[in-house]
Amino acid sequence: DLLINQIAAGEVVERPASALKELLENSLDSGATEIEVRLMQGGIKLLQVADNGGGIARDELPLAVARHATSKINSLEDLEQVGSLGFRGEALASIAAVSRLTLTSRQASEKHAWQIFLESGAMSEPQPAALAAGTTIEVNDLYFNTPARRKFLKTEATEFAHCDEMFKRIALSRPETAFTLMHNGKAQRALRSAQGNPRQRIAAILGDEFAQASVVVDEQSSGLRLWGLAGLPTYSKGTRDAQYVFVNGRFVRDKLISHALRESYQDVLHHGRHPAFVLFLELDPQGVDVNVHPTKIEVRFRDGRAIHQFLYHALNKSLAGSKAGEVAM
Ligand code: ADP
Ligand code: MG
Repeated sequence: DLLINQIAAGEVVERPASALKELLENSLDSGATEIEVRLMQGGIKLLQVADNGGGIARDELPLAVARHATSKINSLEDLEQVGSLGFRGEALASIAAVSRLTLTSRQASEKHAWQIFLESGAMSEPQPAALAAGTTIEVNDLYFNTPARRKFLKTEATEFAHCDEMFKRIALSRPETAFTLMHNGKAQRALRSAQGNPRQRIAAILGDEFAQASVVVDEQSSGLRLWGLAGLPTYSKGTRDAQYVFVNGRFVRDKLISHALRESYQDVLHHGRHPAFVLFLELDPQGVDVNVHPTKIEVRFRDGRAIHQFLYHALNKSLAGSKAGEVAM
């Protein structure tokens, strides 16, 4: 089983950032309103995610770290209906197989927390522990027992950059949730809840300069909605780093979407320049097949043509209606 989990880990936890993604999604699934991330040495030495969500009962702790024990999918229909970010029940088992993992959790109704410790997947008995309601997961020494994998990790600075990028995507997708990020004991990001004002979260992550040099997008048509901030041509960049698209709340990189957005900008951008944007596409889940592979997210639309046209026109309209320098906030 350890071997199976270690092989799965090769897919699920390619690097610290992928482990971070899984832990953050679990915290969000637990209903947390505040999430604190602490990393040491790019997340290789330590990756800790603490949340104030619903917690895990003592007797459920072993299940949480067992492969597929918590799968929320029993049929293909389930797969279409699943409302949570996680549904495979393999992330924690995989991470635990390639690290030293401490899981501490307390449900609000309990007097104290319970803690388990796993090394290479071998689990200790639950011990009483102190913790406010919620869950804290500490992943130490990622890949300490699979040196071949460990060698694929890049420098701490690079791994931290990947973690930070993952953190930004997830923080953008959940403006109502408060997040903090620490690296090597230093505060890197502190995001208070932007409940009711998602553009504040966008500004907090992409910077005020971007927020000032962008237009508000909010267009709807036959069940499709596109909203967010689109950078003005004056704010364009030499790279695509500042392009974020979310489909029904999930970060995606999709050719059809990119193409439509690029077309909208085509007439207003200089050659070789890339627009910056944070855009949320919302549509009936029936109209999109989100294939959530652990490391990449692919979407397939029932009616790709309609989506393409909608995106193109929605963004065109927003950009045309703007005057340079218009303040979005
Ligand atoms: P999945 O998210 O696909 O169910 P995971 O391996 O990521 O699988 O997590 C296993 C289970 O552990 C979850 O389904 C959940 O019940 C529990 N769990 C993990 N992290 C948390 C958390 N932060 N708060 C509450 N429960 C959690
Ligand atoms: Mg999960």
